[in-house]
Amino acid sequence: MLIDSHAHLEMPEFKKDLEAVIQRAEESGVEYIFTVGTEKKDWRKALEIANSHPSIYAILGVHPHNAKEIDEETYPVLEELCQNEKVRAFGEIGLDFFRSLSPRDIQLKKFREQIGLAKELRLPIVVHDREAHRETMEILKSEKAEECGGIIHCFSGNYEMAEVCIEMGFYISIPGSITFKSAEGFREIVKKIPLESLLVETDAPFLTPEPFRGKRNEPSYVRYTAQKVAEIKNVSFEKVAEVTTENALRVYKLKV
Ligand SMILES: [Zn+2]
Ligand SMILES: [Zn+2]
Repeated sequence: MLIDSHAHLEMPEFKKDLEAVIQRAEESGVEYIFTVGTEKKDWRKALEIANSHPSIYAILGVHPHNAKEIDEETYPVLEELCQNEKVRAFGEIGLDFFRSLSPRDIQLKKFREQIGLAKELRLPIVVHDREAHRETMEILKSEKAEECGGIIHCFSGNYEMAEVCIEMGFYISIPGSITFKSAEGFREIVKKIPLESLLVETDAPFLTPEPFRGKRNEPSYVRYTAQKVAEIKNVSFEKVAEVTTENALRVYKLKV
């Protein structure tokens, strides 16, 4: 049993064959998928997919790319949708200084605001941090993100950053890029992070692991990521599956 802790099933890439994608995931042992609606037009769709599949849950929030689109209606709509019990976390929120599709000052402000909103909603947060490690950590600390905890998704920081995040009650989620030939440095970091703090994710349709790199990613491929984590840590695939599943169930509060 595996959990894909982060995918985007509501994206147009899955429009044609969503049911087949979900079925393949089930057949390859993926018990639950957490689909992340990153902007207003996707929230209801993500929730609809979750509501019509027992194995799928939703995560809603405004991605840093879309931070500039936040207006006075955004938070009330999110507050209402997040009352649905299928919504298990708030996100993905954070900073993306790689693409900087929203101005940086707006990203910083909206990241802070959304941590506050998640705390009000009593939901853990899913953090997106791309080339903004220092600012991400500053905001997590100053906004007391340990009060909600959550997940650093597609983790790309160093070991010291992982340690601080774990101390604050965060899990570290590993994407398919860990299978890339060029990811030697990343594998060294993951080797040192305790399995008890790790999740695995696809971020589908993005970041497709080897041996399918270049193709569309989908939740059934999360096993290639889990397999790589097992190799790196020199433990069995079953052990990685078991512990990362327990971790995901705990952070998303599906089990006490
Ligand atoms: Zn992301
Ligand atoms: Zn994502």
